[in-house]
Amino acid sequence: MGKLFMYYLSGTNIFSCGTCKVHLALFDQLISTDFQGRYGPAYLFGECVNVIVGESEDRNLTTGMHVVADIYCVRCDEHLGWKYEFAKDESQKNSNIVVFVYI
Ligand SMILES: [Zn+2]
Repeated sequence: MGKLFMYYLSGTNIFSCGTCKVHLALFDQLISTDFQGRYGPAYLFGECVNVIVGESEDRNLTTGMHVVADIYCVRCDEHLGWKYEFAKDESQKNSNIVVFVYI
């Protein structure tokens, strides 16, 4: 296995992987705490680091059909949530890529 590159965020409020504590996002990037994922409540971040992005797939979410990809921790491979690749429905199209992390 090759070298593992990880980002270390600096700030007072950092969201980390629940399993291995690697840094994932600054709380400054937190957009909402009021989301439901497939496995329960989730946080919505504008940006996330130290994640591996899985295969893109069509998923029917409450806001319509979206292309999303699951995200995994770069260090421990924990399934963390998913990110939007883009929305199929133009009215739902967001310019920002958003990431949901299960809590
Ligand atoms: Zn981890």
